[in-house]
Formats: sequence, structure tokens, C-alpha cells
Amino acid sequence: MKLKSQPPKEATVTYREAPCSGNEINGLGEKEFRRAKYIYHSNGKSGPLPFDKMQHVFRYSVPAKMLPRIVRGAWATFRPHGTISDHRFEVSDAKKMTQQIKAKALDLGAGVVGICEVKDEYLVEGAVNKYRYAIALGLPMDREKMLTVPGHTAAMEVQRVYTQGSYLTVDLTRYIRSLGWPTKALPINSSSEYLHIPIAIAAGIGELGKHGSLICKEYGSNFRLTTVLTDLPLVPDKPVDIGVEDICATCQACTRACPPDAIFSEKQWVRGTKKWYVDFDKCVPYFSSTYGCGICLEVCPWSEPGRGPKLSEKLLNLREKKSG
Ligand code: SF4
Ligand code: SF4
Repeated sequence: MKLKSQPPKEATVTYREAPCSGNEINGLGEKEFRRAKYIYHSNGKSGPLPFDKMQHVFRYSVPAKMLPRIVRGAWATFRPHGTISDHRFEVSDAKKMTQQIKAKALDLGAGVVGICEVKDEYLVEGAVNKYRYAIALGLPMDREKMLTVPGHTAAMEVQRVYTQGSYLTVDLTRYIRSLGWPTKALPINSSSEYLHIPIAIAAGIGELGKHGSLICKEYGSNFRLTTVLTDLPLVPDKPVDIGVEDICATCQACTRACPPDAIFSEKQWVRGTKKWYVDFDKCVPYFSSTYGCGICLEVCPWSEPGRGPKLSEKLLNLREKKSG
């Protein structure tokens, strides 16, 4: 798969002198566990962040035609809570309720759905969790539009999916509240104190790829995540193994395609876990100057429509043969 030519890294806006190292804030090289800190996407609670100026570059460079979508999506962010019905539906069969919630989420527009129990490590430092379960929701993006990354067309498509995701979370929480259970939407237009990627991994949506984003069998990396929290009794899913580790060990598609060379070829220690990691200080100036970049997501072989299930089967069979 070939993308159109991309702006060279020299053509992008960057700091004369960076305020600090984003990699340091993220805990690159740290072998002890600690929770993540807010770093880039600010919200009402995060206060001023070290990379706010870079985020302003991103915000103010978006095309004017995107504004109505941003406003619609932002409107959803003001509706994460609501009135809970007085008539609680007592759940005698959590498995059946899980099926019901997943079917509702798919009906409301989700492409993939998974459930996990919330752990403190899925929240940024200092944030307090009040819910037992997280419902991770993945929404596919239009592949043809995303093949134009980086640019206005792809950025518009990302914003369309963000807005759709925000409405999806609000509608799903409304449904859960109608059953008499507490819930909260985490619309994706703003930074949240909950980390969508670790939640989605625990909920069995997919695996982390070398490009630092999630890969799922259905859409590769050509999708966006959002989350709903709840105390409604549900049955959690388990993390999946679709073979991402096997291919990322040798594939270089994203590392070669990334203009600022931000993707590490080896796993790194980050806050106590050895994992794939993207160099924040190299990626973010390019990302902010190119309407959200996204090149690494689209060159990934898993993102080719229909390829994921076959690729996963092939990789897992190969692994079995090697071990047997
Ligand atoms: S979004 Fe991906 S391809 Fe673009 S600069 Fe960041 S890591 Fe590189
Ligand atoms: S492009 Fe290749 S190395 Fe990068 S995340 Fe996708 S499969 Fe892994």
C-alpha cells in the first residue's frame, strides 16, 4: 500500500527550544511502574500542559469546514452524565446482559465492542475511578479517505468518527441509565482521565502495534476508540492474541514510513512495562503540523480492508508450526 507523498519533517512547525522532554513525562526508560500523566490533549481538569502551544498549532490549523463537526462533537462532551431511572433492572444473568449491551452498542454504530474491569493503572496520575466496568468501543474510519493522510480529507474523516463516537457513548449511557444503573460517557473530543488504549487491550479489542496504536483484527489500525464506564453487572472479556507481536518483530512498514523517524524498532521500558513506544518529541511536532498525521496507521498491513482475519490465522499457524 502506497500513500501520496508527505511533507518532509523539515517543513513542519517545531519549538526553537522545547519546554521539556515529552518522553520524560511519559516515563521512557523507567523500569518502575507509575501511572501516566497528562501531556498533550488538555481538558478542563488537566490545567495548562507543557505542550499546549504545540496543541494550539494543531487546533488552529484545522480546516474551517471541520468546525461544525468539532462543535457537534464538543456538545456531546457536556453530556457525560444524566438522570438514572428509579426503576432498576436487577440483573440475574450478567452474560445475557453483556450480550444485550454489546448488541445495543453495535446497533448504535460501534464496529467492535469489548468489556473489562477498570483498574487504577488505566487512569492518569491522581484521578479516582468510580466505576466497575469499562465498555471499549471501536469505530471504523473510511479507508479511502484515510489513505490521503496527512491532509484535510483524512482530518475531516477522523473528526467525523470522533463526533460519531461521542454521540455513541452518550446514547449508550442513556440506555444504561434507563435500566437504572450508573454510567458515564467518555466522549473522544477531549482528553480523558481514563486511558482508552489500555482499556481496549484489556477488553480484548486488539493488541498494541509497533506504531504505538491499537491493532484489531477487523479494522487493523484504521479505527478510533471511545469508552463508556458503568456499574451494570457485565462479564469482562480477555485480552486477545491475534499475532501482532509476531509480525511487528520483523515488519518495518511504519518505521520506514514515519517522516520524523519517531517509531522505535525495539520495545522500550515505559513506566515499568517493556512495550512498543513512539518518540513523543519527534512525533508530536509533525503530528501537530499535519492535521494529525496518521501515516503509520494507514501503512500498517493490518489496516487493509479484509486482511486482518487471514493475516492473524496465518501468523498463529506459523507460530504453532515453529513451536511444534
Ligand atoms: S503519527 Fe505515526 S507516522 Fe506520523 S509522526 Fe507520529 S509516529 Fe510518525
Ligand atoms: S506497520 Fe508493521 S511493524 Fe508497524 S505496527 Fe503495523 S504490523 Fe507492526
